[in-house]
Amino acid sequence: LPLVGLKDERTQVKVKNIVFGGNEVILMGGPCAVESESQMHEAAKAVKAAGGKVLRGGAFKPRTSPYSFQGLGKEGLYYLEEAAAEQGLLTISEVVDEKSLELMVDRVDIFQIGSRNMQNFQLLKLMGELRRPVVLKRGLSATIEEWLNAAEYILAGGNSQVILCERGIRTYEPSTRNTLDLSAVGLVKELTHLPIIIDPSHAAGRRDLIPYLAKGAIAGGADGLLIEMHPHPEAAKSDGDQSLTPDQFNQLSEELVPIAKAV
Ligand code: PEP
Ligand code: MN
Repeated sequence: LPLVGLKDERTQVKVKNIVFGGNEVILMGGPCAVESESQMHEAAKAVKAAGGKVLRGGAFKPRTSPYSFQGLGKEGLYYLEEAAAEQGLLTISEVVDEKSLELMVDRVDIFQIGSRNMQNFQLLKLMGELRRPVVLKRGLSATIEEWLNAAEYILAGGNSQVILCERGIRTYEPSTRNTLDLSAVGLVKELTHLPIIIDPSHAAGRRDLIPYLAKGAIAGGADGLLIEMHPHPEAAKSDGDQSLTPDQFNQLSEELVPIAKAV
């Protein structure tokens, strides 16, 4: 892998006024899916109040079941964009194909490639050509090597703005939705020059465990966190069980400050 051996010269991914892989830990939060204008408005206020820099919200949702909520599409992108702009936040949203990419290209700051699409090589090639910041999530059952090869597809196309995201992998353990592979942080730092962030939400699948995983991630050297937070998790159309309330998100952010300072 060309990524290997370049670890001494770390890549910093700059997105407007923030830097992934610099000295600051980047906090990103928001709902799994964009559901309404008021939901995004409340979520954006909560992210801003907690010191977060990026608002998340999926407009195109690659759901496990075809009968689950599939996202608001174009309308959702609009709510995400408006809410973030109001609070001076950047945005991250999942791209699923060429059509969604066309709709997102001038509206979203960071393009998320989801676990289910980690080996969608056509999509990876499109992101290589686009030269915009990409958060590449680790596949549901992908090895580190498969994940890094997926990143290589984007880099090989000429886009160096790649941020890796560990979000838990499938194991035999049923107590959590996935198992957070915290060694991914160290491995990515040893094997590559890319920034790495942690998504504790999809790893745990339950909100009570998020603070444990988030704190471990930052203590362990992660460059940022992508956390699901919903103004009313009990009413969420997707991933409500793993979504923090705004208060919990704010509290976690406060508790992360001394940890981030210590690393
Ligand atoms: C998400 O971020 O809501 C999502 C679908 O994540 P993942 O691709 O990690 O399952
Ligand atoms: Mn989700």
